[in-house]
Order: sequence, then structure tokens, then C-alpha cells
Amino acid sequence: MKKLSAVRIPSQKIPILTLHRDISKHLKRGHRWIYSDSFGPQHESVKNYSGLAFLQIKKDLLGLGVYQFDSPLRFRMLCLSDEPFFKKTEPVKTLESWSLHQWKKALSIRSLFDSSLTNSYRLINGEGDGFPGLVIDIYANTAVVKFENSLFEECIWDTQALVILLCEAFPLLDCIYLKRKKEESEKGEVLFGTLNTEVQFKENGLLFSANIREGSKTGFFLDQRDNRNLIKQFAHDKSVLNLFSYTGGFSVYAAAGGAKSVTSVDIAKPAIEVLQNNFEINQLKTPTENIAADAFLYLGQAVEKKKKFDLVINDPPSFAPNAKSVPQATAAYTKIFSDSLRLVSSHGLFAASSCSSHINTPMFMDILKESFSKARLRGTLLQMGHQPFDHPYPLAMDELRYLKFALLRVE
Ligand code: SAH
Repeated sequence: MKKLSAVRIPSQKIPILTLHRDISKHLKRGHRWIYSDSFGPQHESVKNYSGLAFLQIKKDLLGLGVYQFDSPLRFRMLCLSDEPFFKKTEPVKTLESWSLHQWKKALSIRSLFDSSLTNSYRLINGEGDGFPGLVIDIYANTAVVKFENSLFEECIWDTQALVILLCEAFPLLDCIYLKRKKEESEKGEVLFGTLNTEVQFKENGLLFSANIREGSKTGFFLDQRDNRNLIKQFAHDKSVLNLFSYTGGFSVYAAAGGAKSVTSVDIAKPAIEVLQNNFEINQLKTPTENIAADAFLYLGQAVEKKKKFDLVINDPPSFAPNAKSVPQATAAYTKIFSDSLRLVSSHGLFAASSCSSHINTPMFMDILKESFSKARLRGTLLQMGHQPFDHPYPLAMDELRYLKFALLRVE
């Protein structure tokens, strides 16, 4: 592999910024974020600067990272000064060696997948793989590149270098697609090859298709893979209700696990259409009911009709996009979980999940307890699930452990 920097090398000299609060211990432990309150006023020449920057405290150099003058999350560390590749006077070499090291590490972690069973996974998970803000998902021979904060990160990460690195690592790739956020004028861009409308891939031996351009996130929720497998183990002979089903990840696994029937509900009609296709490509003959509707309305009606299911899965979208919305989100999760508990048959199973990073595991457990209490039921916790190993995060960054999943028996 030839040396290539995944980070765009700036044409001007990289400035040195000064930290006013000593949080070097926090950085040395592997945390990569510094908020604006740790920075005092900066020199006039860098007052409105965003881009690569060296960071120092007093006269000690701490490392090289990305500074964004107008963001509360002011600095994201790339390479710490105590790492072997760090050379103060040679930032280009530092970035080349450092990014190649991170890239190889990310590839080696994912080489653990048995590609005959699973050829879809997250290759780069932002700070978890040392590449702040960058996500790359692999769907068989299609790679999808996504930036968390698109426009700024496109100035940091070198998409041309990423194309070369991806083609070297995956010689069979036939498409690399850059996916932008919905609200941006140009939604996405094919960086290499051609993008098919539907991309087919394997997960734990099951087939799925995704519409990369129009679908949510990069096309599929790869992070629920292990939790879906758990549902497969428990679904045998059960009537299953999958609320917020999207394209039927949990539904297909439940059917493959021998479910008696599977009902899926999602507000997005295109997602329900892909779900139907996902049942077909796996040749599953399980009786299904696929409903494009608001899950809140569906729940109300189902409770009224006294419907019962042996296993109810509830994986709503994030109700807490920021810290301020936590109380409201807590109430919303409690309401939807307790309402769906009313649909679980006696001694049935209930699976609940939250993907909001602002709701941590203890908060999630409290929400579950409150939901059971509101529904006047007691629960037995069978298993907890989290994000899988292709969604790693630095041990020091608890806030990046975002996915919670619980499987419970309703007593
Ligand atoms: N469990 C899914 C992922 C769910 S993502 C999987 O494993 O793939 C959340 C889903 O909730 C999205 O598909 C979105 O369309 C759907 N959604 C959002 N609001 C909804 C509502 N009010 N009623 C039903 N579905 C909704």
C-alpha cells in the first residue's frame, strides 16, 4: 500500500492553537473532543479559522487535529504528539503515516467477518476508527462515504485519496458513492463506478437490498446486526410485531428464525416496499402484514382491538437529537414502550432499543422500568445488546456508545 493521506493536505502553514484549560489527561486517555470552553481567545490571525491545527498547552505540543472556530465542539484530535508517527516539523509525513496506520487497523478489525455470510459492515466509524466525522459503509461491492457534518468535513477528508484506498483494499468494488444530507442541494455524488438503484448484500447469511441514494443513513441500519440475530434465536413459532421496521431487518430475521407470522409497521412507504422485496429475495413464506402507517396511530388502534403478539419489537428513531431534548425524549420513549407492552401476550417477549447517544444505558434502563410500571407489568431481562464491533468507539468516549437494546420477558 503506497503512502497516501486520507486527510487533505492544506496549502498554507498549519497554525498552532493554544488550549487555556489543561485537559491533556483526558486527551492522553483517548478522548478526542475539546469543547469551546477550554479555549480562550485566539490570536487575531486564526480568530475565524477552521481546518487542520496543532494544539498546544503552554509550550507543550499535544497533537494535530481539526479546529472549527464556529462550533461548540471546537477541536477533534487526529494524531497525539506521543504517537510514533508524530513529527512536528513534517505534518505531511505525520498525516500520511498516521492515516495509513488507522486505515490498516480498520481493515484488520473488519477482516474478522466471514464474507460468505456477511459482506455488509461499517468500515470506518468516525472517531472510533480515528477518523472524526467520517463514515464508510460497505454493501457487497458498493462503498458509501458519509460525513457527519458534510460541508466542513469535505474540506478535511480527501475523497480522491479515499477512492484510491478503497479500490486498493476492495479490488471488486463497482461503486463508491458519497452520500450527503437530505437538506443539501446536491444529495450525493458517485465518486467511482456506477450506482445501482438497489444494492443487494448479505448479513449473517440472509439477503437484503437497500436503496443507497434514497434510503435512511447510508441505506441500512448495520448497527442492529447482532441484535437482529438475537431476535432470530427467540422468534420460533411466535407471532411477531416489528414497530418502526424500516426495510424489515428484524422482520426478516424473525421469519428466518421460524416465526408464525410477522407484522411490520413503518411510516415510510418506500421502506415497506423494500421490506417486501427483502422477504422475497430470501424466499420466506411466513405470513406477513406490512403496514405503511404511523406507529403511534397503529398502536392506539391495536390496543383498542385488544390485539396480542408473542414478541413485540420497538426500535424507534432517535427522540433525543440533543441534550436539551432528553426530558421530552424520555417521556416519548416511556409512552411508546408502555403502550406497546400492552400488545404483548401473556409471558411473551418485548424488545426495545434506543439509538440516541444522549440517553445513556442507566437512563435507558430507567425508561424500561418506568414503561413496565406504567403498563402495570413486571419484566425479566433476558439480554442486553449494544452496537457491534464494526461500530467501535474509544474507551474514553462514553458518549459514543449510543446503541442500547434490551430483550425482556413480560411476566
Ligand atoms: N429497526 C430498523 C431501523 C429503524 S429506524 C432496522 O433494523 O432496520 C426508525 C424507523 O422509524 C425509520 O424507518 C422511520 O421511517 C420510522 N418512523 C419514524 N417515525 C415513525 C412513525 N411515527 N411511525 C412509524 N414509523 C416511523
